[in-house]
Amino acid sequence: MKSIQNFYLQLPKQHKVIISSFSIVMLILLLIPSEKATASRQTNDSSLQVGKRYDLILPTYQETTLSSPKKSEQQTSQQTTEIQLASTFDESLTWDKTKVRNGDSLAKIFKRLGYSARTTHDVSSAQGKYSKLLKKLDVGDILRIGKNSAGKLAALSYPFSKTETLHVTLLDNGKYQSNKETKTVETRESIAHGVIKSNFWNAGIESGLNDGQIINLANIFGWDIDFALDIREGDSFHVVFENRYINGDYIGTGKILAAEFINKDDPFQAIRFSDGEYYSPDGRSMRKAFLRAPVNFKYISSSFKRKRFHPVQKRWKAHNGIDYAAKRGTPVVAAGNGKVTHSGYNKNNGNYVFIQHGNGIVTKYLHFYKRPSVKKGQRVKQDQVIGYVGSTGLASGPHLHYEFVLNGVHRNPRTVKLPDAKPINKKYKDEFALLASQRLIELSGSRQALLAMQAP
Ligand SMILES: [Zn+2]
Repeated sequence: MKSIQNFYLQLPKQHKVIISSFSIVMLILLLIPSEKATASRQTNDSSLQVGKRYDLILPTYQETTLSSPKKSEQQTSQQTTEIQLASTFDESLTWDKTKVRNGDSLAKIFKRLGYSARTTHDVSSAQGKYSKLLKKLDVGDILRIGKNSAGKLAALSYPFSKTETLHVTLLDNGKYQSNKETKTVETRESIAHGVIKSNFWNAGIESGLNDGQIINLANIFGWDIDFALDIREGDSFHVVFENRYINGDYIGTGKILAAEFINKDDPFQAIRFSDGEYYSPDGRSMRKAFLRAPVNFKYISSSFKRKRFHPVQKRWKAHNGIDYAAKRGTPVVAAGNGKVTHSGYNKNNGNYVFIQHGNGIVTKYLHFYKRPSVKKGQRVKQDQVIGYVGSTGLASGPHLHYEFVLNGVHRNPRTVKLPDAKPINKKYKDEFALLASQRLIELSGSRQALLAMQAP
């Protein structure tokens, strides 16, 4: 029942009130096995982009393949320890704890603590491949150094990431040995859900998701839903995601395992498979050859107004394009892979780019505030920045004018049917179907919990 307690603790405050109605969902969750823990290095969220997925969290270890369900267990964990060392410190030693300062090296630190140059040499050339980590100390890193009764350095420990610690120990023969300890990361599933009142970003924050998770959620559905213009008041979302713990201490969120976004009563569901890709419950890839919107919703959502829907549609009919009002300088990305056929300036378009894609598709981007970032003839990738929002040419204010042309006919980029990427590999079809059915139960549980919350 500890996990129920943790689950409860992970919920945003306002949800705790209705916790009793939620307990059924939790019971269901407890009966569902989940994917094993994996992780990769955290990305810097200052450069979050649309169409890109971010694995939030920490150092690397190997991706494990999805195991078939064995036991009814909500918590899973993975043992990646290379050498299991006692995490407790040898009490026969006297321990110093020191923080790496600006301009520090192991030699300087050891000198400060009264050790000889000889000790520095011996420790930094300790047997085992991990001692070289001591050459890459970062400011603020913590070293713990244990001295024996003879005044000799007998042990050193250096946690160089949230999950990994270097240990150097003095052997009986007087030499040093280095080892790496990798802590076991335990993952627990959690669910967040919300209803959009003002904008998607705020709803995400209110539901307890962090910035990276909100971006990831938008990116998972970014091929089906235009998060810049299609989001409506009353839209809702459900997210099954991982929380990660070391020795019971929360260290951050992990992957989004499944998600649902209900946009204008149209439900979209995505399930993460062990290949790291998201698929619809029937196994189609969530990725498409084109992004719905060539600008990140983040820049648009702040200008979200409740009753601003129909004018956009009308405007599309009037002038064959979609206008994304955004701040001057907002990056614009190529909606799909292709080749730049036009890149320049004219009186009406201002600074503009046309891209030719496969299958008779051309996309056009107008009114950049300065010369485009790509040249005529250049190949561009989906998601590559091609210019920045401005108001050059015939434009009353800063916005991106975006056109989608299929075989010479203008189509509404927000509703046109886009080609799918590869579906789930045939040999994993059964495995995926089983996983998908479990995830759908979780999402449906979340839906019911949300409904219960909304009930008077
Ligand atoms: Zn326009």
